[in-house]
Amino acid sequence: RMDDGSVKVFKGYRVQHSTVRGPAKGGIRYHQNVNIDEVKALAAWMTFKCAVVNIPYGGGKGGIVCDPSKLSDSELRRLTRRFTAMIAPIIGPDQDIPAPDVGTNANVMGWIMDTYSMLKGHCVPGVVTGKPLELGGALGRHEATGRGVMLCCRALTEKLGLDIKDCTFAIQGFGNVGSTAAYLIADLGAKVVAISDHTAAYYCADGLDVHDMLKYAAGNGRVLQGYKADGATEINKEDLLYIDANFLVPAALEGQITEDNADMIKAKYIVEGANGPTSYEADQILNAKGKIIVPDILANAGGVIVSYFEWVQNLQSLSWSLDEVNGKLADILLKAFDEVYALADERKYSMRTAAYIIALRRLVKTKKIRGIFP
Ligand code: GLU
Repeated sequence: RMDDGSVKVFKGYRVQHSTVRGPAKGGIRYHQNVNIDEVKALAAWMTFKCAVVNIPYGGGKGGIVCDPSKLSDSELRRLTRRFTAMIAPIIGPDQDIPAPDVGTNANVMGWIMDTYSMLKGHCVPGVVTGKPLELGGALGRHEATGRGVMLCCRALTEKLGLDIKDCTFAIQGFGNVGSTAAYLIADLGAKVVAISDHTAAYYCADGLDVHDMLKYAAGNGRVLQGYKADGATEINKEDLLYIDANFLVPAALEGQITEDNADMIKAKYIVEGANGPTSYEADQILNAKGKIIVPDILANAGGVIVSYFEWVQNLQSLSWSLDEVNGKLADILLKAFDEVYALADERKYSMRTAAYIIALRRLVKTKKIRGIFP
């Protein structure tokens, strides 16, 4: 029911791609372009993501076709409650555990937790992750995906013998993932020379003041449009991908780097903060040119790793400190990074191929041990 009393019908999906290694796990996206094929692809990526970092989950994803920026808080709440009621029979802490994704946040997760708990008649915090702290959310979950992207960038510089302080970065996307990665990378002393969101893009050869941009966006409806600062020039949003920086971090939506524009990318290192930013054809072109790509299923796995910590804490009624969360996140993610990098290095595969080999080996092994039912 809309605020004006009218009734509107929205379409929503929940897809469970695999439950071989554990309950389905993955976010819920609110975006006008959500469609069943996208949700299926995102669910499959979650299966491989959880397998490559070796956390005990399968893969799932959900989405509602809507533009959340055009809905009031109460409309979003009613939409979320109704959607949760519809998928309640197939979600649960042992079955399928949703989380935030593009267009959703801790508030939405809180409504999911409440709706599910009211239907069950008791509090079930482990049904969803990325919740507000007051409802059993984990410290560090909000920053976790961006932190993971930063850890992968730093790990890559260490493998290559580079000093991150000498490296320049272009970051596409200033939502939860892009903005967090941007400030954590800048805090390491690297230069973030270009940042874009869906409204505008800015460049500064000496490095943008990311914290200033965060402050601006927070008071500007969370978008960068209209940002002004000494030394920062507005550039064409589309040109962000072609900036002459050492690192490119696509942290917006899928399908950004395609066979039509892959040739124009100058960055040598690409760390995928978004899910599926590079098409298959573009991946071939970039590999042939000797670019090193840290694939999405590894680079953006920080979010689901801390979701796992949140779920573990919920099941045991524990609460870990931020240091504990960040320390365990780095342990799990960097171990996976090392495994992928070592296999790629040894067999001369791309890091994406190596990541899929490791993920598929785990999935196949588990499936074989479980065997055929009945
Ligand atoms: N939506 C995030 C992703 O694509 C997080 C999923 C989760 O925490 O379950 O990885």
